[in-house]
Amino acid sequence: MPVQNPAPRRIRSYPVCLTASLLILSLTMACGGSDPAEIHDRMLTLDSHLDTPMRVFRIPSDLSVRHDRASAAAGDLDFPRMREGGLDAAFFAVYVQQGALSEAGRAGAKRTASDMLDMMEGWKIRYAADMAFAHSPEDVRRIVGNGLRAVCIGMENGYPIGTDSTAVAAFHARGVRYITLCHSRNNDICDSSTDPAGPTWNGLSPFGESVVREMNRLGMLVDVSHVSDSAFYDALRISRAPVIASHSCCRALMDNPRNLTDDMLRDLAARGGVAQINLCSFYLIRTEPPAGRRAAMDSLKRIYGEWDRVPPSKRTEYEEARAAVDRRYPVPKASVSDLADHIDHAVRVAGIDHVGIGSDFDGGAGLSDCPDVSGFPAVTAELIRRGYSKKDLAAIWGGNFMRVWGEAVRAASK
Ligand SMILES: [Zn+2]
Repeated sequence: MPVQNPAPRRIRSYPVCLTASLLILSLTMACGGSDPAEIHDRMLTLDSHLDTPMRVFRIPSDLSVRHDRASAAAGDLDFPRMREGGLDAAFFAVYVQQGALSEAGRAGAKRTASDMLDMMEGWKIRYAADMAFAHSPEDVRRIVGNGLRAVCIGMENGYPIGTDSTAVAAFHARGVRYITLCHSRNNDICDSSTDPAGPTWNGLSPFGESVVREMNRLGMLVDVSHVSDSAFYDALRISRAPVIASHSCCRALMDNPRNLTDDMLRDLAARGGVAQINLCSFYLIRTEPPAGRRAAMDSLKRIYGEWDRVPPSKRTEYEEARAAVDRRYPVPKASVSDLADHIDHAVRVAGIDHVGIGSDFDGGAGLSDCPDVSGFPAVTAELIRRGYSKKDLAAIWGGNFMRVWGEAVRAASK
């Protein structure tokens, strides 16, 4: 005997008010639902800063395969984990460590950036089933609409520009759409917020001003993360387009010169820019390293040298030794709630239209409850718990950044 489907009769027997409630519920779900995971999935999500190119440039890894976090080649991102975390689009940084401001140093930096871009060029075919490169906000929407991850390219540290502003156009032609003017040390463009030697230029150098103007002409985003406070204000004054902080937190909550003061947040917003909050624990909370960690890290440095100068033949060995130190002397990690505190603060100071997320995954980021890109739905869930609406979330998760990017492109044509 066939099994009778009792569903229609049951629905007919519901009281009117319950039937109405069910109707409202199904209509709500059809319009997007209120389940945090579903809300997260339906939004366009963009992370404005990941250092994945640096990681796979140093230790090759197949980004089309889902890696277990415990493996040395896992890092914080592969395309399967990007899908799992509902991350649609991301700026992958071409990062070059600051070295000597000499002809040889600048030429070496340019070569490294170019080699990294060559590596990414190969992804077009290698990862065609997972991603495509996006060079404009429209590209991002089209690529995501086609069910692929949109990979955009940023450059972290203007060191590869050297002292030749025509290099800006050359990197733009290769797909670079923002430049973080400097990194942890001063360069030819500007002062860094963390150079132990103090300022060289007291802001942007005259050459740095010409770089910002060239970036404006090309429609590239000027990124003020890492720059000194004076360089931040110079960039704001010189740039014809709104500027971004691709991965920076709030100094009022964690006193670190890399973080933005309330005045900086307000002024960035007043000029139409966006502050993308970072997921590195040491920018979010005060982290006391356990006793013994410093000695262990010093000993690693004695054996292998600076972490990003380890020769290719020793890199895997170094990573394993480094992972062993992390296991033995773990640094306390911030949580999604700590991240949400910074987002709340930035929203209060700068406004909901001027805050976003730039994780710094593969560059030191990782929260206790969001260890890699697959954990991003937890961020959305926490923000919903704190009362953010779907519209707010869409703004934070990419809407604001996309708007600012569009404005930079439009300012170029004026
Ligand atoms: Zn950085």
